Amino acid sequence: MNVRVKFFGGARSVTGSKYLLEIDDFNVLIDCGLFQGLRELRRRNWDPFPIPPEEIDAVILTHAHIDHSGYLPRLVGEGFSGPIYCTYPTFDLVKILLLDSAKLQEEEANFARKKGYSKHENPRPLYGTREAEAVFPLIKTFGYKEKIKINESISIKFQDAGHILGSAIVEMDLRGDTQKKKIVFSGDLGGYNQPVNYDPTPIKDADVLFIESTYGDREEMEDDVAEEIQKVINEAVEAGGHIIIPAFAVGRTQIVIYYVQELMKSGRIPEMPIYIDSPMAISVTDLYRRNPTCHKLRNGRDESIFDFKHIKYRRERKTSKLLNELKKSAIIISASGMATGGRVLHHLFHHLPNEKNTVLFVGFQAVGTRGRRLLEGEKSVKIFGQEVPVNCKIKRIYGLSAHADKSELFEWLSNFEDSPKFTFIVHGEPESAEAFAESIHEKLDWYNVKVPDYLDSETLFWHI
Ligand SMILES: [Zn+2]
Repeated sequence: MNVRVKFFGGARSVTGSKYLLEIDDFNVLIDCGLFQGLRELRRRNWDPFPIPPEEIDAVILTHAHIDHSGYLPRLVGEGFSGPIYCTYPTFDLVKILLLDSAKLQEEEANFARKKGYSKHENPRPLYGTREAEAVFPLIKTFGYKEKIKINESISIKFQDAGHILGSAIVEMDLRGDTQKKKIVFSGDLGGYNQPVNYDPTPIKDADVLFIESTYGDREEMEDDVAEEIQKVINEAVEAGGHIIIPAFAVGRTQIVIYYVQELMKSGRIPEMPIYIDSPMAISVTDLYRRNPTCHKLRNGRDESIFDFKHIKYRRERKTSKLLNELKKSAIIISASGMATGGRVLHHLFHHLPNEKNTVLFVGFQAVGTRGRRLLEGEKSVKIFGQEVPVNCKIKRIYGLSAHADKSELFEWLSNFEDSPKFTFIVHGEPESAEAFAESIHEKLDWYNVKVPDYLDSETLFWHI
């Protein structure tokens, strides 16, 4: 058996994760992510796929985030028709996220057509709802720790990666003609001792390891999250205002719900309504409710925290609009997390001008986003084509990241008993990946630690 790897994304970038293993003449793709962010990266989504998609025999997904699954509709649209392996919750999340991604692509193409800013006469979406729906019948779902046979010589196991609901580390066992080998993909790894996700599963050995490096060069700033949220909310209530929390639908909304209801139950903040105002966040929250064994939130509790009496779900646009007329203090959690779109925009539109209110950011704000501009203290921002003055308080909390930071990545690596024959540092910006590779050399004395580039390839095993 001969095995080669080709890096089709997630190499010297955090998005577009796609790693092709050529195992003799069997081609398996690990993750199928969309490139996001800078235009030159996004342009790669439109390039012809490096090999004809019909030549790929199977896809394995580590988790549902769009930078790991968002290219699937395109791959299927261009001819892939094999099985897609993932965990049960990943499938449920993929359905929500791919349909949302398709809708965004369609809206963007429509917008470009109307405004005429596209170079193309008839701008097309990368894929639409129909292509997204064509992905679902190909998906095969499994539990953690189940042995899954891909073919006669390849089997895999999903292990909890602690990153988001259903996220997995992939352990792949290869039975060659003379030897057995093991390849491990870390996927995205979560941190340790988190309130929602379990710790990433320790792995003891690998002949080849692919590890993410999002925070490979830094320790996360840690606030005492509960205390910080308590302070922000109490100050806002004292001022007689509302608290707007822009939050991503997957993971972040649920962790904020966890903290707020804990604070309210223990009397550290006054009782008040908590509005969840995002249809996607509501659907995802429902998945957390339906998968109680995949996270810690149900541990030792009789009822789900999501059924807490003060939480009010607002799925309909009509009821969402009514929130503009709230008189008494309330907490509104709404997407998108960086205030780039979604319903949170109309809440910001109404609440930013009033100095009594508070906007609380709970996640990373990328350069160029409205969230970043607010955090940097801009005095007005444009929403719905209008300049809106910013008079309210703008706050931010650290310590809620879904990614392991540098010391947590090392904590996970310390479970390995020996240096893998190859370690590939993936899913990180170049500086972060390089720095992480260097630290692995220094701290663990591992050999053959590589930072691959986009479209690089490497022979992993020869005649095994
Ligand atoms: Zn992720």
